[in-house]
Amino acid sequence: MDVRVNCMRAARLHRIGEVLSLEDIKKPEIESEDDVIIKMRAAGICYSDIHVIDGVISVNTPLTLGHEISGEVYEAGSNTKLKKGEKILVHFMNPCNKCKYCLDGKSMQCINQFNRPEYGFSADGGYAEYCKVNYDRIVRLPDTLPIDFAATLGCAGITAYHAVKSIADINVADSIAIYGTGGVGLYALQIAKACGAKCIAISRSKEKLKFAEELGADYSIDANNIKEVKKVTEGGVDVILDFVVNEESIKNSQKILANGGKIVLVGVSNKPISINPQTFVLKELSILGSLVGSKNELEELVWLASSNRIKSIVKKHYSLEEINIALNELREGKIIGRGCIIFNHQ
Ligand SMILES: [Zn+2]
Ligand SMILES: [Zn+2]
Repeated sequence: MDVRVNCMRAARLHRIGEVLSLEDIKKPEIESEDDVIIKMRAAGICYSDIHVIDGVISVNTPLTLGHEISGEVYEAGSNTKLKKGEKILVHFMNPCNKCKYCLDGKSMQCINQFNRPEYGFSADGGYAEYCKVNYDRIVRLPDTLPIDFAATLGCAGITAYHAVKSIADINVADSIAIYGTGGVGLYALQIAKACGAKCIAISRSKEKLKFAEELGADYSIDANNIKEVKKVTEGGVDVILDFVVNEESIKNSQKILANGGKIVLVGVSNKPISINPQTFVLKELSILGSLVGSKNELEELVWLASSNRIKSIVKKHYSLEEINIALNELREGKIIGRGCIIFNHQ
């Protein structure tokens, strides 16, 4: 008898600060008629995993990480109306759909969000051969959308989409600075271009700036030469999407914003930053926070991606066994675009 029949391989965090442990654990089972067991096909690798490992985002351990989850339905409870083999993507957050914020269509402000299972953060995620989620979090995928591209829409894509469309509320005449050209920044760039905005990519990495140009950036500027931004805009940028969020990015942002400009903080740093209130008052600036995005937005984004309006940023594949190598490369800034785990089921 195959001893692995009820087991699966998973990459789990046991203690903050440690590498993920690759181990054989029990395969998840249907416990409620709302449950879906996903046979994993692809899991994008996000910098939030590093924040979890470092304790910047707090979680309870042991935990299977991985929140960019895509695959196919393996088993589904009777309430789910899903069929075995259907291609799906997971919206990893879990708003209640009942509080006043959810009812007002602002599910990212849900008061119950952090008390409910979030896959890869407070419930086991997708760095495993199988993953169990509530069917309410499932987005169906068209067959034509590559599965690795789809996985990365689950966090990088949706975070970019929400920041550009719902929080920054970009206009066609706006100039936008994409501060930080990691995975989320590169999707934000493409979405802002699709809205008609002029886009300026800012990074310290020549390679990442080159990729940003390939994806449609109108200008690419080294963070050391921040004054260049003023030369290519009429008095500054209207919106800065800050994916870095540190003292330097905030200081630079205050130098390049146009009157009435907005800074949208997307990176989840927990270190304090300082602003000069006088600059904010005299120029009527605003500073806003942006958290992931709703399931409806994810469905819109899947449509946008399958209509070829945005391109995949996945540049490198890894096996599950290579997860710690991948996370290390991400930490060192060596991954251009997005890295993605691809599952090879026996
Ligand atoms: Zn709610
Ligand atoms: Zn993420």
